[in-house]
Amino acid sequence: MGVHPKVGLNKGGKNASSDVGIKTIYLSFDDGPLSGTTNCIDICSREKIMATFFEVGWHQSRSAFGKKTYQQILNNGALFTLANHSYTHANNNYLNFYQHPDSALLDFIKAKSVLQTGNNITRLPGNNAWNLMGIKRASPLVLPLVNKLDSSGFNIIGWDLQWRFNKKGRPIQSPAALAIIVDSLFQHHQTVTKNQLVILMHDHMFRTPADSVKLEKFIQLLKQRGKYRFQKLTQYPGLKLS
Ligand SMILES: [Zn+2]
Repeated sequence: MGVHPKVGLNKGGKNASSDVGIKTIYLSFDDGPLSGTTNCIDICSREKIMATFFEVGWHQSRSAFGKKTYQQILNNGALFTLANHSYTHANNNYLNFYQHPDSALLDFIKAKSVLQTGNNITRLPGNNAWNLMGIKRASPLVLPLVNKLDSSGFNIIGWDLQWRFNKKGRPIQSPAALAIIVDSLFQHHQTVTKNQLVILMHDHMFRTPADSVKLEKFIQLLKQRGKYRFQKLTQYPGLKLS
């Protein structure tokens, strides 16, 4: 886990070049361990689908449940990758967090030591920023932190598509509607990297049986297309080694 050949962006890289035509989906689940994480683990395991869990260090370390769920993900390295989503999740005060990039960097470093993810992939709380080899997308607010994370060897991966949730934390788009958007984004090359699509979901969206069924349905619809493969974000093109 965490070992990735050093490749260029998409063209001419040793392993990426042969894969460049294959449409690859990266499922990512944010903010766990939370209620709902276990359902995400179970469904992906049942469907034999790879996924990435962006975990919050505090959610892992605050309870026995958090540690146990974290361990379940770690134990299934064939299917799952853990990634760093900060320690505090900015205490959900994003403006303050990003205006203090030095303490924000320390927050990610603390999460790194707690989560022991085995890779240097991060995602900013509440912000769709990217920083990989040859890819940089950051608003002025987060740019100072993005630069500090970059200098410290972290990769930052945002998302191409979000399965949104309502005020009750339940999925908004239907599985069928979301799968059609996936098709469209690939078809019209509206992804950050061509033929690579990162989907953001949140563990807590799937805490009830009724909503868990939607996740399984979504995965089944994508599998039925027969033209997509699923990967962990450790395989995303352009990750820099540190
Ligand atoms: Zn988050």
